[in-house]
Amino acid sequence: MASTKSYAAQAATSPLAPWTINRRDPKPHDVQIEIKYCGVCHSDLHTARNEWHGTVYPCVPGHEIVGKVTAVGSHVTKYKEGDTVGVGCLVDSCRECDNCKEGLEQFCSNGMVGTYNGQERDGSGNTYGGYSKSIVVHEDFVLSVSDKLPLEAVAPLLCAGITTYSPLRHWKIGKGHKVAVLGLGGLGHMGVKLAVSMGADVTMLSHTASKEKDAARLGAHHFVLTSDAEQVKKVAGSFDFILDTVSADHDYNFYLGLLSTNGVMVCVGAPPSPAQVPAFNLIFGRKSIAGSLIGGIPETQEMLDYCAEHNIVSDIELIAMKDINEAYERMLKGDVRYRFVIDMATL
Ligand code: NAP
Ligand code: ZN
Ligand code: ZN
Repeated sequence: MASTKSYAAQAATSPLAPWTINRRDPKPHDVQIEIKYCGVCHSDLHTARNEWHGTVYPCVPGHEIVGKVTAVGSHVTKYKEGDTVGVGCLVDSCRECDNCKEGLEQFCSNGMVGTYNGQERDGSGNTYGGYSKSIVVHEDFVLSVSDKLPLEAVAPLLCAGITTYSPLRHWKIGKGHKVAVLGLGGLGHMGVKLAVSMGADVTMLSHTASKEKDAARLGAHHFVLTSDAEQVKKVAGSFDFILDTVSADHDYNFYLGLLSTNGVMVCVGAPPSPAQVPAFNLIFGRKSIAGSLIGGIPETQEMLDYCAEHNIVSDIELIAMKDINEAYERMLKGDVRYRFVIDMATL
């Protein structure tokens, strides 16, 4: 066991603060990683504050992890000391169910193990995430990271990147598609970059007027301020695909009205309250609402390789570990340009 510095929430209402955890010694298939950077996902905040219920305390969030391998177990073949690697939202699954066999470990029928607030399959307890100095993960759940890209800006790909890449691929988005990305935050800005790189015509739907310039810089072809009725009217019934990344409660029906016939709205944002959608809003126009959860391990590796090839990283603001609570407050105000990343050297 290695005593490891971390930051944890001790309760839903307490700020994150220093705490010490124990990481296991590497087992034969384990990879021990020194965490260099960890991205700050809105899911970290939802979980730390128990907004989705079911948080086990103390809670060490963080599932956008990049770092260097410091040791490997005796049977590890994929990685060696010194390799640059990443860990995303999953650290284990059964590997035997149909979903696991298809590389959809996030949908493991026997329950995937989240990088934090998960339960280890061997019964050894709660998992602790990336707001810490190191982590030990089975090699099957460790991703290979290219040294071509700035490491701190790669970190958010491990959740924000794969969460937006996966639905774009699943719905085969490309040239000729009119895509809208709803919400310009961590997920949204990756959604814009990726959809643009795949050749789609991309509109940013945002409730923050001051983000218009950034949307253009990120590659969005159009910008619609969702509070401006005139702008919204112009795009009614026009999108083939809406990627909804909004973290707060909002009216899905408003955005269904922007879909064209056969249009699909994919929810990746996970607001705490249930939504009400009258069937008629789907019936007229044969529209669909779907959801998507991160991505499996093979697709996460595919996404990392794709981003290395296309030079795609996250736009980040590097923060010190001690500033995490302030970062959460800023994230709630929509004041993120566009992902906070913690420099673990500051812990
Ligand atoms: P984020 O950086 O905080 O971005 C959320 C964005 O939503 C904001 O920047 C804002 O964009 C928009 N927004 C916020 N409040 C709003 C409101 N009241 N009305 C309309 N728009 C609002 O969060 P994130 O890290 O990208 O995460 C987004 C959501 O995805 C969270 O719920 C998170 O838990 C979830 N998530 C899901 C998965 C998955 O696998 N499905 C994975 C990761 C995260 P504008 O200012 O442009 O409007
Ligand atoms: Zn996340
Ligand atoms: Zn499984």
